[in-house]
Amino acid sequence: MAVESMGELLDEIAALVRAAVHPARGTISLSPEVAVALEKCPSGASVVGAAAQAGEGNLDAPSEPGPHRTLDELAEVVAGCKACGLCDGRTQTVFGSGNPHADLVFVGEAPGEQEDLQGLPFVGRSGGLLTDIVEKGMKLRWEDVYICNVIKCRPPGNRDPRPDEKSVCEPYLLEQLDLIQPKVICALGGHAATTLLETKESTGRLRGRWHSYHGVPLRVTYHPAYLLRSPGEKKKTWADIQEVIKVLSGESVP
Ligand code: URA
Repeated sequence: MAVESMGELLDEIAALVRAAVHPARGTISLSPEVAVALEKCPSGASVVGAAAQAGEGNLDAPSEPGPHRTLDELAEVVAGCKACGLCDGRTQTVFGSGNPHADLVFVGEAPGEQEDLQGLPFVGRSGGLLTDIVEKGMKLRWEDVYICNVIKCRPPGNRDPRPDEKSVCEPYLLEQLDLIQPKVICALGGHAATTLLETKESTGRLRGRWHSYHGVPLRVTYHPAYLLRSPGEKKKTWADIQEVIKVLSGESVP
């Protein structure tokens, strides 16, 4: 097939994506860069939302063809991302930190002021509490676990990330988790839980039981920022964390 222009090529890709994305989640890889390119062609825009939802990673069986880049390569791509308006206000992206082969990954919401300035997740007040949970509670070292967020850029004034921002950033998170291959994922708060589990249920209803994220056991607990505002809920988070510890140590199976 002769392709006359870049627009035509993008239209062809859009048609292929549209055909491939249906019906199951995880059957196609579409990176945010491709999503942005597709948005620039008329017939591409309609498939981007669906493709973004399809996600880029599949922990059970990596989708074919997959990007197969390293975590560092992915971080570089994220550092240059301009897929949504949050790039205009960021000092830098906040990709994640910790052990790239961690058994346990914590997923938070989005960088705050300190995270945006330092380029690292959970270094502000919420980070202090998460550090206590990891080091004092779980008796792990901060560098033994991996910590990241659903959104890689700070929303202005720390507002909640918008659904469009989450869906455009989500493929990065999916690929990140796909590359790390943790034994357990702990979703901190509603944005992480609802994004990973594709649900609208509240954190209160989702916590207290095991979920599965592409075959990886996932536990939902309260976000440290919420615990700072509602210290009475810390007991529930500790109960969630104890279940995580049991699964990590092999004492229990989810
Ligand atoms: N800092 C982060 O990195 N993520 C959050 O969700 C909150 C604070």
